[in-house]
Amino acid sequence: MAPAQQSFASRRSEPLFGRLAIIGIGLIGSSIAHAAKDLNLAGRVVLYDRDEAVRQRARELGLGHEVAETAAEAAEQADHVVLCVPVGACGAVAAEIASSLKPGAILSDVGSVKNAVVEAVMPHLPEGVHFVPAHPVAGTENSGPDAGFPSLFLNRWCILTPPDGTDETAIARTRQFWEGMGAIVEVMTATHHDLVLAVTSHLPHLIAYNIVGTAEDLAAVTQSEVIKFSAGGFRDFTRIAASDPTMWRDVFLHNKDAVLEMLGRFSEDLAVLTRAIRFGDGETLHKHFTRTRAIRRGIVALGQEKPETEKLRKD
Ligand code: NAP
Repeated sequence: MAPAQQSFASRRSEPLFGRLAIIGIGLIGSSIAHAAKDLNLAGRVVLYDRDEAVRQRARELGLGHEVAETAAEAAEQADHVVLCVPVGACGAVAAEIASSLKPGAILSDVGSVKNAVVEAVMPHLPEGVHFVPAHPVAGTENSGPDAGFPSLFLNRWCILTPPDGTDETAIARTRQFWEGMGAIVEVMTATHHDLVLAVTSHLPHLIAYNIVGTAEDLAAVTQSEVIKFSAGGFRDFTRIAASDPTMWRDVFLHNKDAVLEMLGRFSEDLAVLTRAIRFGDGETLHKHFTRTRAIRRGIVALGQEKPETEKLRKD
């Protein structure tokens, strides 16, 4: 059954957290900052980014209530700290803020890979601090503090992957936080998350990066055609392939096993289609395309995408 859709997330009368710290002010960090302030999810929203120019820009944009000069300063006295940095930086940031985290605080993240983040963060977790990893399955191809907007998480999934034995209240409060921003929350293990996301997100990005690179290589011969006829499917790949290079480098380096497993299956399935084309086996092709069309309709029915006709009217 399709999850309940919200047209907006409503502002809370009382904040959920006293102080929220956001480390990393990119697309995700700035979107959380907008939403948390607008929807009164925290009494005070404090941000930090390692880049001075980004901190300055966050102040100009009025993101949160305060921009701190160090990660430790932002995390101090925070009830909820969210790491919004690339996956490969989560361990180092956790080490940097560990001694500033107060007992009872909830540490979380938004990384697109979960096992590697859990492994990198757990050794730095102080006694009495709860770690509830999260992954909002929402994004755009844009990065940086200007890219964020408060409705990014509305009607999007957010997956929580708490390690065994995590405090139930901390999980419930993290759930409330994401639901407060309009997300639909699901809980699963980090290993299952990494496998599911390898096929639904990581592999499609790798394919897009690859196909756009291939077309670029051909472009010496047919550059004008590649641009002119890009509506024929290629344009959607270029949007995905414009995603942040640092973020996606880290995703592939830190979800290596699951991505290689899915890539193996993908290559085998591609070989079946290649063979069908080579031997004129239209029945195999038609059967396959009919099956995949049903998957697309399922995604639209679940409210995770608009039908093409509606997209043409609204986008
Ligand atoms: P982004 O727009 O590139 O922003 C990341 C910010 O973190 C940058 O300003 C970066 O600064 C900063 N940063 C890097 N290392 C840091 C450190 N050690 N201390 C403090 N700040 C640091 O990235 P994003 O798209 O928001 O992604 C952030 C996280 O969200 C990633 O883990 C990603 O996997 C996850 N995520 C992304 C999406 C998406 O579609 N974009 C969706 C869901 C989840 P520099 O520029 O100086 O490196």
